[in-house]
Amino acid sequence: MERIKPEQSGGIYIHFPYCRHRCHYCDFALVTPERIPQEEYTRAILHELELRSGSLPQDAQTLYFGGGTPSLWEPDHVGTVIETARTQHGLIDGAEITLELNPEDVDRARLSAYVEVGVNRLSLGVQSLLDERLQHLDRGHDARGAADAVVIARDSGVSDVSIDLIFATPGQDLSSWREELGIALELGVDHLSIYGLTVEPRTRLERLIDDGAYPPVDDDRSAELFEEARLLLGDSGWSHYEVSSYARPGREAVHNRAYWHGHPYLGVGAAAHGLLDQRRWVNHRRPSRYMEACMAGDPEAESERISDEVWAWERVMTGLRDLERGVERGWLQAATGARFEDLEARGCLEAMGSRLRIHPDHVLILDSLLLELAP
Ligand code: SF4
Repeated sequence: MERIKPEQSGGIYIHFPYCRHRCHYCDFALVTPERIPQEEYTRAILHELELRSGSLPQDAQTLYFGGGTPSLWEPDHVGTVIETARTQHGLIDGAEITLELNPEDVDRARLSAYVEVGVNRLSLGVQSLLDERLQHLDRGHDARGAADAVVIARDSGVSDVSIDLIFATPGQDLSSWREELGIALELGVDHLSIYGLTVEPRTRLERLIDDGAYPPVDDDRSAELFEEARLLLGDSGWSHYEVSSYARPGREAVHNRAYWHGHPYLGVGAAAHGLLDQRRWVNHRRPSRYMEACMAGDPEAESERISDEVWAWERVMTGLRDLERGVERGWLQAATGARFEDLEARGCLEAMGSRLRIHPDHVLILDSLLLELAP
Protein backbone atom coordinates (compact mmCIF):
# COMPACT_ATOMS: atom_id res chain seq x y z
CA MET A 1 0.00 0.00 0.00
CA GLU A 2 1.24 3.50 -0.82
CA ARG A 3 2.25 5.33 2.33
CA ILE A 4 0.52 8.60 3.19
CA LYS A 5 2.78 11.66 3.47
CA PRO A 6 0.80 14.19 5.51
CA GLU A 7 1.95 17.77 5.91
CA GLN A 8 0.99 17.84 9.57
CA SER A 9 1.84 14.78 11.53
CA GLY A 10 0.64 13.75 14.93
CA GLY A 11 2.44 10.53 15.61
CA ILE A 12 3.06 7.90 18.27
CA TYR A 13 6.52 6.83 19.43
CA ILE A 14 6.77 3.49 21.24
CA HIS A 15 9.96 2.78 23.18
CA PHE A 16 11.21 -0.81 23.57
CA PRO A 17 13.90 -0.54 26.25
CA TYR A 18 15.70 -3.89 25.90
CA CYS A 19 19.00 -4.81 24.19
CA ARG A 20 21.29 -7.85 24.18
CA HIS A 21 24.22 -5.80 25.42
CA ARG A 22 25.05 -2.13 25.79
CA CYS A 23 27.29 -0.84 22.98
CA HIS A 24 30.16 1.20 24.39
CA TYR A 25 29.04 4.55 22.91
CA CYS A 26 25.34 4.24 23.81
CA ASP A 27 23.59 6.21 26.55
CA PHE A 28 20.00 5.42 25.55
CA ALA A 29 17.39 4.34 28.08
CA LEU A 30 17.65 0.55 28.04
CA VAL A 31 18.40 -2.54 30.08
CA THR A 32 19.98 -5.86 29.08
CA PRO A 33 18.14 -8.58 31.04
CA GLU A 34 18.58 -12.31 30.50
CA ARG A 35 14.87 -12.63 29.85
CA ILE A 36 12.82 -9.87 28.25
CA PRO A 37 9.37 -9.64 29.89
CA GLN A 38 7.59 -9.60 26.53
CA GLU A 39 4.03 -10.15 27.80
CA GLU A 40 4.28 -7.80 30.77
CA TYR A 41 5.84 -5.02 28.73
CA THR A 42 3.29 -5.39 25.94
CA ARG A 43 0.47 -5.27 28.49
CA ALA A 44 1.83 -2.00 29.90
CA ILE A 45 2.14 -0.46 26.44
CA LEU A 46 -1.44 -1.41 25.55
CA HIS A 47 -2.59 0.04 28.85
CA GLU A 48 -0.79 3.33 28.23
CA LEU A 49 -2.27 3.56 24.73
CA GLU A 50 -5.70 3.15 26.35
CA LEU A 51 -4.93 5.68 29.09
CA ARG A 52 -3.99 8.24 26.44
CA SER A 53 -6.93 7.41 24.17
CA GLY A 54 -8.36 10.48 22.43
CA SER A 55 -5.55 12.79 23.55
CA LEU A 56 -4.14 13.47 20.07
CA PRO A 57 -6.05 16.29 18.38
CA GLN A 58 -6.30 14.30 15.14
CA ASP A 59 -5.97 10.69 14.04
CA ALA A 60 -2.41 9.39 14.46
CA GLN A 61 -0.47 9.74 11.20
CA THR A 62 2.64 7.72 12.06
CA LEU A 63 3.81 5.01 14.44
CA TYR A 64 7.48 4.50 15.30
CA PHE A 65 8.97 1.57 17.26
CA GLY A 66 12.34 2.71 18.62
CA GLY A 67 14.71 1.48 21.28
CA GLY A 68 16.58 -0.25 22.58
CA THR A 69 16.14 -3.06 20.11
CA PRO A 70 12.51 -3.34 18.99
CA SER A 71 13.45 -6.25 16.69
CA LEU A 72 13.68 -8.32 19.90
CA TRP A 73 9.94 -7.73 20.40
CA GLU A 74 7.87 -10.65 19.19
CA PRO A 75 5.97 -9.75 15.98
CA ASP A 76 2.63 -10.80 17.49
CA HIS A 77 3.09 -8.25 20.27
CA VAL A 78 4.08 -5.57 17.77
CA GLY A 79 0.91 -6.42 15.83
CA THR A 80 -1.26 -6.02 18.93
CA VAL A 81 0.28 -2.62 19.60
CA ILE A 82 -0.43 -1.51 16.00
CA GLU A 83 -4.04 -2.69 16.29
CA THR A 84 -4.48 -0.82 19.56
CA ALA A 85 -3.01 2.34 18.02
CA ARG A 86 -5.70 2.00 15.35
CA THR A 87 -8.59 1.48 17.76
CA GLN A 88 -7.49 3.97 20.45
CA HIS A 89 -5.83 6.68 18.34
CA GLY A 90 -7.32 6.27 14.86
CA LEU A 91 -3.96 5.37 13.29
CA ILE A 92 -4.79 6.05 9.65
CA ASP A 93 -4.71 3.52 6.82
CA GLY A 94 -1.43 3.90 4.98
CA ALA A 95 0.30 5.42 8.02
CA GLU A 96 4.10 5.24 8.10
CA ILE A 97 4.86 2.43 10.59
CA THR A 98 8.58 2.16 11.29
CA LEU A 99 10.44 -0.51 13.25
CA GLU A 100 14.11 -0.21 14.20
CA LEU A 101 16.04 -3.44 13.64
CA ASN A 102 19.39 -4.83 14.60
CA PRO A 103 21.06 -6.69 11.71
CA GLU A 104 21.53 -9.71 14.01
CA ASP A 105 17.75 -10.14 14.28
CA VAL A 106 17.08 -10.05 10.56
CA ASP A 107 15.82 -13.22 8.94
CA ARG A 108 13.21 -13.62 6.24
CA ALA A 109 10.56 -15.26 8.41
CA ARG A 110 10.80 -12.65 11.16
CA LEU A 111 10.63 -9.73 8.72
CA SER A 112 7.62 -11.27 6.92
CA ALA A 113 5.92 -11.55 10.30
CA TYR A 114 6.53 -7.83 11.00
CA VAL A 115 5.25 -6.88 7.55
CA GLU A 116 2.24 -9.13 8.02
CA VAL A 117 1.18 -7.22 11.16
CA GLY A 118 1.54 -3.82 9.44
CA VAL A 119 5.14 -2.59 9.63
CA ASN A 120 5.95 -0.81 6.35
CA ARG A 121 9.25 0.91 7.04
CA LEU A 122 12.43 -0.65 8.45
CA SER A 123 15.29 1.26 10.02
CA LEU A 124 18.41 -0.88 10.32
CA GLY A 125 21.08 0.00 12.85
CA VAL A 126 23.98 -1.21 10.69
CA GLN A 127 26.25 1.70 11.84
CA SER A 128 28.89 0.70 9.28
CA LEU A 129 29.26 -1.44 6.18
CA LEU A 130 33.00 -2.09 6.58
CA ASP A 131 34.54 -4.60 8.99
CA GLU A 132 37.39 -2.35 10.11
CA ARG A 133 34.90 0.38 11.10
CA LEU A 134 32.54 -2.03 12.87
CA GLN A 135 35.44 -3.25 15.00
CA HIS A 136 35.56 0.24 16.50
CA LEU A 137 31.83 0.30 17.23
CA ASP A 138 31.41 -2.64 19.61
CA ARG A 139 28.60 -4.13 17.53
CA GLY A 140 27.53 -7.76 17.29
CA HIS A 141 27.48 -7.99 13.47
CA ASP A 142 30.06 -7.80 10.68
CA ALA A 143 29.91 -6.05 7.31
CA ARG A 144 28.61 -9.14 5.54
CA GLY A 145 25.82 -9.50 8.11
CA ALA A 146 24.90 -5.82 7.68
CA ALA A 147 24.72 -6.05 3.87
CA ASP A 148 22.73 -9.31 4.00
CA ALA A 149 20.29 -7.70 6.44
CA VAL A 150 19.72 -4.79 4.06
CA VAL A 151 19.04 -7.16 1.14
CA ILE A 152 16.55 -9.19 3.21
CA ALA A 153 14.87 -5.98 4.39
CA ARG A 154 14.59 -4.78 0.76
CA ASP A 155 13.02 -8.13 -0.24
CA SER A 156 10.53 -8.11 2.62
CA GLY A 157 7.96 -5.99 0.81
CA VAL A 158 8.20 -2.83 2.94
CA SER A 159 7.97 0.47 1.12
CA ASP A 160 11.11 1.98 2.69
CA VAL A 161 14.41 0.77 4.10
CA SER A 162 16.60 3.14 6.08
CA ILE A 163 20.03 2.49 7.57
CA ASP A 164 22.02 4.34 10.23
CA LEU A 165 25.72 5.00 9.66
CA ILE A 166 28.20 6.37 12.20
CA PHE A 167 31.23 8.28 10.94
CA ALA A 168 34.38 9.63 12.61
CA THR A 169 35.46 6.30 14.09
CA PRO A 170 39.25 6.10 14.69
CA GLY A 171 41.41 6.20 11.58
CA GLN A 172 38.52 6.69 9.18
CA ASP A 173 39.63 8.51 6.04
CA LEU A 174 37.74 10.07 3.17
CA SER A 175 38.32 7.19 0.79
CA SER A 176 36.96 4.50 3.13
CA TRP A 177 33.98 6.74 3.92
CA ARG A 178 33.31 7.19 0.18
CA GLU A 179 33.55 3.42 -0.24
CA GLU A 180 31.05 2.89 2.55
CA LEU A 181 28.55 5.41 1.18
CA GLY A 182 28.96 3.81 -2.25
CA ILE A 183 28.06 0.40 -0.80
CA ALA A 184 24.97 1.91 0.86
CA LEU A 185 23.82 3.35 -2.48
CA GLU A 186 24.47 0.07 -4.29
CA LEU A 187 22.46 -1.83 -1.70
CA GLY A 188 19.47 0.26 -2.77
CA VAL A 189 18.43 1.79 0.55
CA ASP A 190 15.89 4.64 0.45
CA HIS A 191 17.03 6.62 3.46
CA LEU A 192 20.23 7.22 5.40
CA SER A 193 20.61 8.56 8.93
CA ILE A 194 24.22 9.63 9.36
CA TYR A 195 25.71 10.57 12.73
CA GLY A 196 29.19 11.53 13.83
CA LEU A 197 30.50 9.40 16.69
CA THR A 198 29.85 11.36 19.86
CA VAL A 199 31.24 10.61 23.28
CA GLU A 200 28.37 10.74 25.72
CA PRO A 201 29.06 11.26 29.42
CA ARG A 202 29.35 8.15 31.60
CA THR A 203 29.52 5.72 28.67
CA ARG A 204 32.12 2.95 28.40
CA LEU A 205 33.49 4.81 25.38
CA GLU A 206 34.19 7.87 27.53
CA ARG A 207 36.08 5.70 30.03
CA LEU A 208 38.07 4.00 27.24
CA ILE A 209 39.10 7.40 25.85
CA ASP A 210 39.97 8.72 29.33
CA ASP A 211 42.13 5.60 29.90
CA GLY A 212 43.91 6.10 26.55
CA ALA A 213 42.53 2.80 25.20
CA TYR A 214 40.53 4.49 22.41
CA PRO A 215 41.60 7.56 20.40
CA PRO A 216 39.52 10.71 20.96
CA VAL A 217 37.19 11.82 18.18
CA ASP A 218 38.93 14.21 15.77
CA ASP A 219 36.46 17.09 15.27
CA ASP A 220 38.14 18.42 12.11
CA ARG A 221 38.07 14.98 10.52
CA SER A 222 34.46 14.59 11.61
CA ALA A 223 33.56 17.86 9.83
CA GLU A 224 35.35 16.72 6.65
CA LEU A 225 33.48 13.42 6.64
CA PHE A 226 30.14 15.17 7.21
CA GLU A 227 30.85 17.46 4.25
CA GLU A 228 31.94 14.54 2.08
CA ALA A 229 28.63 12.74 2.70
CA ARG A 230 26.70 15.92 1.88
CA LEU A 231 28.52 16.39 -1.43
CA LEU A 232 28.55 12.74 -2.50
CA LEU A 233 24.88 12.12 -1.71
CA GLY A 234 23.88 15.47 -3.22
CA ASP A 235 25.69 14.53 -6.46
CA SER A 236 23.78 11.24 -6.43
CA GLY A 237 20.44 13.11 -6.34
CA TRP A 238 19.64 12.50 -2.67
CA SER A 239 17.88 15.12 -0.61
CA HIS A 240 19.61 16.29 2.55
CA TYR A 241 16.38 17.20 4.29
CA GLU A 242 17.49 17.18 7.92
CA VAL A 243 20.92 17.71 9.46
CA SER A 244 21.49 13.95 9.93
CA SER A 245 19.02 12.58 7.38
CA TYR A 246 19.23 11.93 3.65
CA ALA A 247 16.60 10.37 1.40
CA ARG A 248 15.97 9.49 -2.18
CA PRO A 249 13.46 12.15 -3.36
CA GLY A 250 10.01 11.39 -1.95
CA ARG A 251 11.37 8.96 0.64
CA GLU A 252 11.81 11.41 3.49
CA ALA A 253 10.59 10.05 6.83
CA VAL A 254 7.38 11.61 8.12
CA HIS A 255 7.53 10.72 11.80
CA ASN A 256 10.47 12.86 12.91
CA ARG A 257 9.05 16.00 11.30
CA ALA A 258 6.51 16.06 14.13
CA TYR A 259 9.39 16.61 16.57
CA TRP A 260 11.09 19.36 14.58
CA HIS A 261 7.92 21.40 14.09
CA GLY A 262 6.29 21.00 17.49
CA HIS A 263 3.39 18.90 16.23
CA PRO A 264 1.68 16.85 18.91
CA TYR A 265 2.98 13.35 19.51
CA LEU A 266 2.58 10.64 22.10
CA GLY A 267 5.61 8.97 23.63
CA VAL A 268 4.61 5.58 25.01
CA GLY A 269 6.77 3.17 27.00
CA ALA A 270 9.64 3.39 29.47
CA ALA A 271 11.55 6.70 29.23
CA ALA A 272 9.41 7.89 26.31
CA HIS A 273 8.78 11.63 25.88
CA GLY A 274 5.55 13.11 24.58
CA LEU A 275 4.28 16.57 23.68
CA LEU A 276 0.72 17.90 23.64
CA ASP A 277 -0.47 21.50 23.88
CA GLN A 278 2.86 22.90 25.09
CA ARG A 279 3.06 20.21 27.76
CA ARG A 280 6.00 17.80 27.65
CA TRP A 281 6.25 14.66 29.72
CA VAL A 282 8.69 11.86 30.26
CA ASN A 283 7.74 8.41 31.50
CA HIS A 284 9.58 6.47 34.19
CA ARG A 285 12.94 5.38 32.83
CA ARG A 286 13.45 1.99 34.49
CA PRO A 287 11.22 -0.55 32.70
CA SER A 288 10.09 -2.35 35.88
CA ARG A 289 9.14 0.99 37.49
CA TYR A 290 7.42 2.10 34.28
CA MET A 291 5.34 -1.09 34.05
CA GLU A 292 4.26 -0.85 37.66
CA ALA A 293 3.37 2.86 37.44
CA CYS A 294 1.60 2.45 34.11
CA MET A 295 -0.60 -0.40 35.33
CA ALA A 296 -1.46 1.79 38.33
CA GLY A 297 -2.65 4.47 35.89
CA ASP A 298 0.18 7.03 35.75
CA PRO A 299 3.31 6.19 33.70
CA GLU A 300 4.74 9.73 33.83
CA ALA A 301 7.79 10.53 35.93
CA GLU A 302 7.78 14.26 35.14
CA SER A 303 5.96 16.79 33.04
CA GLU A 304 6.32 20.48 32.38
CA ARG A 305 4.32 23.29 30.87
CA ILE A 306 6.44 25.04 28.24
CA SER A 307 6.32 28.85 28.45
CA ASP A 308 5.55 30.82 25.27
CA GLU A 309 9.16 32.14 25.19
CA VAL A 310 10.72 28.69 25.44
CA TRP A 311 8.20 27.33 22.95
CA ALA A 312 9.16 29.97 20.35
CA TRP A 313 12.86 29.23 20.83
CA GLU A 314 12.28 25.48 20.48
CA ARG A 315 10.40 26.08 17.22
CA VAL A 316 13.50 27.89 15.91
CA MET A 317 16.06 25.42 17.28
CA THR A 318 14.38 22.29 15.99
CA GLY A 319 12.65 23.86 12.97
CA LEU A 320 16.00 24.90 11.48
CA ARG A 321 17.03 21.22 11.54
CA ASP A 322 14.49 20.76 8.73
CA LEU A 323 16.71 21.82 5.84
CA GLU A 324 13.86 21.87 3.32
CA ARG A 325 11.11 23.67 5.18
CA GLY A 326 12.97 25.60 7.84
CA VAL A 327 10.91 27.70 10.19
CA GLU A 328 8.26 30.43 9.94
CA ARG A 329 9.73 33.95 10.04
CA GLY A 330 7.20 34.71 12.79
CA TRP A 331 8.83 32.17 15.12
CA LEU A 332 12.27 33.69 14.48
CA GLN A 333 10.87 37.13 15.28
CA ALA A 334 9.16 35.86 18.42
CA ALA A 335 12.27 34.04 19.66
CA THR A 336 15.08 36.37 18.60
CA GLY A 337 13.59 39.81 17.92
CA ALA A 338 15.55 41.16 14.95
CA ARG A 339 18.76 39.16 15.60
CA PHE A 340 18.02 36.65 12.85
CA GLU A 341 18.07 39.43 10.20
CA ASP A 342 21.85 39.62 10.44
CA LEU A 343 22.12 35.90 9.59
CA GLU A 344 19.76 36.43 6.69
CA ALA A 345 21.85 39.37 5.43
CA ARG A 346 25.01 37.23 5.65
CA GLY A 347 23.35 34.51 3.58
CA CYS A 348 23.31 31.91 6.37
CA LEU A 349 19.50 31.85 6.30
CA GLU A 350 17.60 31.85 3.02
CA ALA A 351 13.98 32.88 2.56
CA MET A 352 11.26 30.74 0.98
CA GLY A 353 8.04 32.72 1.16
CA SER A 354 7.15 33.17 4.82
CA ARG A 355 9.78 30.64 5.99
CA LEU A 356 13.54 30.75 6.44
CA ARG A 357 15.90 27.82 6.25
CA ILE A 358 19.62 27.24 6.71
CA HIS A 359 21.58 27.79 3.50
CA PRO A 360 23.08 24.41 2.47
CA ASP A 361 26.64 25.81 2.73
CA HIS A 362 26.10 26.58 6.41
CA VAL A 363 24.57 23.33 7.66
CA LEU A 364 27.86 22.29 9.24
CA ILE A 365 27.86 25.39 11.45
CA LEU A 366 24.19 25.20 12.44
CA ASP A 367 25.10 24.86 16.13
CA SER A 368 27.21 28.01 16.15
CA LEU A 369 24.49 29.92 14.26
CA LEU A 370 22.01 28.82 16.91
CA LEU A 371 24.39 30.14 19.56
CA GLU A 372 24.27 33.55 17.84
CA LEU A 373 20.48 33.41 17.90
CA ALA A 374 20.01 32.04 21.39
CA PRO A 375 17.99 34.24 23.78
S1 SF4 B 1 21.90 -1.87 20.02
FE1 SF4 B 1 21.45 0.32 19.75
S2 SF4 B 1 20.18 0.89 21.52
FE2 SF4 B 1 21.11 -1.11 22.01
S3 SF4 B 1 22.99 -0.57 23.14
FE3 SF4 B 1 23.60 -0.76 20.99
S4 SF4 B 1 23.42 1.34 20.14
FE4 SF4 B 1 22.29 1.30 22.11
